[in-house]
Amino acid sequence: MTDNTYDTIVIGAGIAGASTAYFLRQKGQRVLVVDRDGIASGGSGAAGAFISPKVGKGGSLQQLTNEAFAFAVRFYLDRFPTLFHQTGVIRIPRDEKDAEQFTVYEPYNQNNYTRIDPETARKQGVKLPYESFLFDEAGACDAPQLCEALLDGIDIARLEVASIEQTPVGWETDGCKAKNIVLATGYKNSLFDMRYMGVHGRWGNRGDFVSALPLAVSMHQSMSISANIDGIIRLGATYELQIKEPTACDDKQALGLRELAGRSVDTTDFELSQTYCGMRSGSKDYAPLTGKVVDVPWMLEQHPNLSKGARAPLKYIDNLYICNGLGGRGFVMAPYLANTLASHIIQGSPLDSRADPDRLFLKWCRREL
Ligand SMILES: Cc1cc2nc3c(=O)[nH]c(=O)nc-3n(C[C@H](O)[C@H](O)[C@H](O)COP(=O)(O)OP(=O)(O)OC[C@H]3O[C@@H](n4cnc5c(N)ncnc54)[C@H](O)[C@@H]3O)c2cc1C
Repeated sequence: MTDNTYDTIVIGAGIAGASTAYFLRQKGQRVLVVDRDGIASGGSGAAGAFISPKVGKGGSLQQLTNEAFAFAVRFYLDRFPTLFHQTGVIRIPRDEKDAEQFTVYEPYNQNNYTRIDPETARKQGVKLPYESFLFDEAGACDAPQLCEALLDGIDIARLEVASIEQTPVGWETDGCKAKNIVLATGYKNSLFDMRYMGVHGRWGNRGDFVSALPLAVSMHQSMSISANIDGIIRLGATYELQIKEPTACDDKQALGLRELAGRSVDTTDFELSQTYCGMRSGSKDYAPLTGKVVDVPWMLEQHPNLSKGARAPLKYIDNLYICNGLGGRGFVMAPYLANTLASHIIQGSPLDSRADPDRLFLKWCRREL
């Protein structure tokens, strides 16, 4: 293998790309990661990076999230214990209706939890409108440091991949060659026709506030409020559906979060130290996208009746993979999905069907062509 030849090139150095590169390397591959703006420069740098399970009435996405949550907690504690703060996370009901549903949600909480009432929470400095779930094993990561740590010892190049060329043995881009490419490009893809996955961005921001508030637990409702970690409390939310392209970070949004956080904790001494913002990427059906990429132009040319409901076996682009669409839980999903993808690439082991982008292709042909 020459210096610029790799087993796999991963495009994107957010949590999806960093985790995929980490597991590929652990399993023996030589990996290059490229990113146009550097490590954790996309949505991953803005994330509050809460590691918390999903509360709800069951279903495959909740099940996947909660399995990924259990995997992530073990993984971070085992490999990166200083970058994961296991503060516990209180999941506060959104409103009265949500609070009434908590009994219905209970059987679907596969992870350990306790109920926490407003009086007990008050003693911990938290104002709760309703009884809530406290997940003791949950917490928050130091997002950029974690991406850096995952990539420790892996070759990184800072460049924008504008095109990739398929060769008889794999791929070539910017003078680097590899058998496989993994696309971990976040909310925007212009390299291949992957419209069927419906990847889109959702804007959000985070404010880090200096505070002496002795807040030992993190919490999440419509926004997330971290515990006080080394004198900093992180407030974050993603919500700006109308923002389609990244814009400059605005302190006003972080200060708005401080106002909102005042409903749950005493924010009197919160001083804004830094604002972060970014896009998180989601898929058409909000479930993640981890697997192979369908050769869309070939499929449409060979099977023109797909739009009328015809079925046909899927043909993939050789040695091209994706890890994306991680939504609001990228730091929860990434280790489990990246490990699955790395095993698939190296050993051919099965992908997790709940995250396999194949689920979307025929539906897209029928509904949107
Ligand atoms: C405000 C906010 C709060 C959040 N809070 C949480 C939370 O508490 N818990 C949680 O788990 N998740 C949270 N998320 C979601 C989480 O951040 C995302 O799920 C995660 O960042 C997705 O990671 P990614 O690697 O897929 O994408 P990104 O982090 O966006 O990485 C994609 C990378 O690809 C690079 N790239 C794209 N195209 C190219 C190209 N052509 N050439 C080279 N490089 C390219 C970009 O520069 C970028 O660095 C939050 C997100 C936001 C915005």
